[in-house]
Amino acid sequence: MKIAVLPGDGIGTEIVAEAVKVLQVLDLQFELESALVGGAAYEAHGHPLPDATLQLAKDADAILFGAVGDWKYDKLERHLRPEQAILGLRKHLGLFANFRPAICYEQLVGASSLRPELIAGLDILIIRELTGDIYFGQPRGRRTAADGHFPGAEEAFDTMRYSRPEIERIAHVAFQAARKRDKRVTSVDKANVLETFQFWKDVVSEVGLQYPDVALDHMYVDNAAMQLVKAPKKFDVLVTGNMFGDILSDEAAMLTGSIGMLPSASMNSSNQGLYEPSHGSAPDIAGQGIANPLATILSAAMMLRFSLNQPEAAQRIEAAVKDVLAAGLRTGDIYSEGTTRVGTRAMGDAVVAALNKSKG
Ligand code: NAD
Repeated sequence: MKIAVLPGDGIGTEIVAEAVKVLQVLDLQFELESALVGGAAYEAHGHPLPDATLQLAKDADAILFGAVGDWKYDKLERHLRPEQAILGLRKHLGLFANFRPAICYEQLVGASSLRPELIAGLDILIIRELTGDIYFGQPRGRRTAADGHFPGAEEAFDTMRYSRPEIERIAHVAFQAARKRDKRVTSVDKANVLETFQFWKDVVSEVGLQYPDVALDHMYVDNAAMQLVKAPKKFDVLVTGNMFGDILSDEAAMLTGSIGMLPSASMNSSNQGLYEPSHGSAPDIAGQGIANPLATILSAAMMLRFSLNQPEAAQRIEAAVKDVLAAGLRTGDIYSEGTTRVGTRAMGDAVVAALNKSKG
C-alpha cells in the first residue's frame, strides 16, 4: 500500500504529522513517501505542483493531503498560487467525486451554533461533483466594449455545463453510497432556472431507476441551504454539482461546530483517492501547535476504508477518536468549560494511546 504524503502549508505539516503517527501504530505495511506541495513547493521549486510531486501522487494508491495556501501568495499569478495544486491533482488524477461527511459527535453537540436537539446524532454525507460545472466550463473570460481583454473589461463570463457521463457517474456514486447508509438520496439542483440543472435532474432520475431500493428526491439549492440549518437530520446523502456542493458542504461542516473535525475524500473511478481535512491551512494559527489534527486523522481513516480496503483499521481509528473526545480532551477550536485543552501533538498522542489500548 503506497501512500503519498503531501502536508502542504500552514497547519498542514503539523496535522499530517499526527495522522502519519496514527497510521504507523496500526501494524499494517505502508510505504509512505512525502513531497512538497502548494506554497512550500512554490518556494522550493517555483511551482505549487512540481512534476515529481504529481508523479508520486499518480503512482500512489492514496494521497494523504494536509492543506495549502497562505495570504502572502495572493499576489502571484493564478497558475502559481498554492491552491492550484489541488485543482491540478483533481484534474490529473480524475478525482471527480468528493465525499464530505458531516457527523456530529455526541460530546461536541454544544459546539454547534444550532440547538442541540437539531444536531444530536447528525450523520449526513454530501457528495459533490468535482471536475465539471461552472468552475471548469468553457468559454470563460472578460471582455471590453471593444472586444479586447481586460484591463478595462466591461463584462465577465463563465460557462456552466455538465455532460451526461459526468452526471451519470456521480449519480452512481451517490446511489451506491446510500445503499451502505439509510438508502436515501437528495439530488440538489436549480432546475427551475438553469438548463444545466434541469438536465442534471433528468439524468439523476434516470440513473435512480437502476436503484429501486434507494429513495430519490430532488430539492432546489436555495431550499437545501435552508433545510440544512432548519432540519439537517432529515437528509441522508445529498448529491450535487461542483459549485452548489462547494457551498453546501461548508455550510454542513459548520453545523457540527468545528471544521477541525471533518474529513473528506476525493475519489476517481479506480478508487484512488485524495484524503484531506475539510479546512484550509489556517495561517492564523500555523506554527503554534494548537490546530486540531482530528479531521486529518479521520481522513486517514477514510483512506483506509475507501482506497486501501482496511475497514477494520478505519473503524479502530474512528473509535479511538471517540475515546479521546469522551475522555474530555479538546483542542482550542472545540474547547468548552469542563474539558481539558490540549495541543496538536498531545491530541495525536492521545489517539495513538487509545489505539494501543484497543490493541492490547
Ligand atoms: P481555513 O479553513 O484555513 O481557516 C478558517 C478558520 O478556521 C481559521 O480561523 C482557522 O484558524 C480555523 N481552523 C481551520 N482549521 C483548523 C484546525 N484544524 N484546528 C483549529 N482551527 C482551525 O480557511 P481560510 O482562513 O479561509 O483560508 C486559509 C488559507 O487556506 C487560504 O490560503 C485558502 O486558500 C486555503 N485553503 C486551502 C484549502 C485546501 O488546502 N484544501 C481549503 C480551504 C482554504
